[in-house]
Amino acid sequence: MSKKNISIIGGGSSALMFAAIINTNKFNVTIYEKGNNVGRKFLVAGDGGLNLTHSEIPEEFIVKYTPTKFIKPYFQKFNNYNLINWINDIGIETFVGSSKRVFPLKDIKPITVLNCIIDKIKANHVTIKTMHEWTGWDNNNLVFKSPLGPINLGPDFTIFALGGASWSVTGSDGKWLGMFAEKGIKTIPFQASNCGFQINWSESFINENEGNFLKNISISCGSLTKKGELTITKLGLEGGAIYALSHKIRTQINSLNEATVFIDFKPIITQQAILRKLSNESKSIADILRFDLNLTPTQIALIKEYTSKEEYNNIEFIAEKIKNFPLKIIGTAPIDEAISTVGGIALNEVTENLELIKMSHSFCMGEMLDWDAPTGGYLLQANFSMGFYLADYFNNL
Ligand SMILES: Cc1cc2nc3c(=O)[nH]c(=O)nc-3n(C[C@H](O)[C@H](O)[C@H](O)COP(=O)(O)OP(=O)(O)OC[C@H]3O[C@@H](n4cnc5c(N)ncnc54)[C@H](O)[C@@H]3O)c2cc1C
Repeated sequence: MSKKNISIIGGGSSALMFAAIINTNKFNVTIYEKGNNVGRKFLVAGDGGLNLTHSEIPEEFIVKYTPTKFIKPYFQKFNNYNLINWINDIGIETFVGSSKRVFPLKDIKPITVLNCIIDKIKANHVTIKTMHEWTGWDNNNLVFKSPLGPINLGPDFTIFALGGASWSVTGSDGKWLGMFAEKGIKTIPFQASNCGFQINWSESFINENEGNFLKNISISCGSLTKKGELTITKLGLEGGAIYALSHKIRTQINSLNEATVFIDFKPIITQQAILRKLSNESKSIADILRFDLNLTPTQIALIKEYTSKEEYNNIEFIAEKIKNFPLKIIGTAPIDEAISTVGGIALNEVTENLELIKMSHSFCMGEMLDWDAPTGGYLLQANFSMGFYLADYFNNL
């Protein structure tokens, strides 16, 4: 029986995993990538430390996704422990950082990891065609712009792995959204996730405090609380703790045009204990905040920024604000600066096997689907899990 052809469009993380796992004794497989190289966003992800996945137990891992139910089958097929083993097997040693996140060993550069994955794909006899941009359909055929002119292809199966819509310099620009919408496939406009959030700082506050950190705090939005640190930026706030609240903050902004987050500057001390310290009449409030409660000058400046003189001298008020400091968020950072995006192909447009319900033999995977997760390795894990799952599905056809 002759081999069937699979065209993968997009050469990002999910596509690379698929290409490494697919059984090429059964299928002829080609990746079509519009850029000069595959895995450009994977390399960008490695800029601040390539956080491949997280080491927590699968039961705790899976609930980090929105919606959890969608990611479950892919994660169950190829979970974080499977990914760590797979990465180790291709020659990349990993370590678990203090935050329980998993990284390649410190002296291993992201390009080395990418090259090991590409070697695996080449050894698997998958063809990689770069500078091939998919531009839409001609009837049911795929149309590409290529260095040799337009190409028209009719593979047996198409796997779309086009990525989200941030860091367009890596190729993931979301320009394809309208092409699916024209085919009657429900698409959701992209929005920034794992991004900075806008706050209307006063000029004097930001002049003094831009670039300063708020360390060892916790921040909440709705029922979700995250411990960590934040950076004060001209735009507002950045940092892992607020990225993790992206979904909650975005939901509030979408319905109210603004969101409120609450910072606890002293997560390990109770409000009563803070009030007891503030009740020491032999010291000024400023000294108690700075030296007894160890608040940083930035934290104190932030409290003062939103507090009248009268309120500042009211110790009950200040104790409450230290534990539950409200900040109004007025928007997200520009989408192109976000670490990930939500939106894309609506989840109810694909079957559990990731096949488009309205376009049989065509599949979608990775960030181009409308799911969300915080930073911490959850993004790459989900993309790799989908790539693995789909390759395994084909291998068992
Ligand atoms: C700054 C930054 C840091 C990050 N850090 C981490 C991290 O540490 N850990 C983590 O888990 N995740 C991280 N991520 C997220 C992670 O990199 C992405 O979620 C992941 O790369 C998405 O994989 P994907 O397979 O969906 O698509 P992508 O990797 O986005 O790849 C999609 C590919 O499709 C190609 N393409 C698009 N349109 C076409 C077309 N029309 N024709 C042909 N090709 C096309 C693009 O050029 C691109 O190469 C980070 C992201 C960023 C931006």
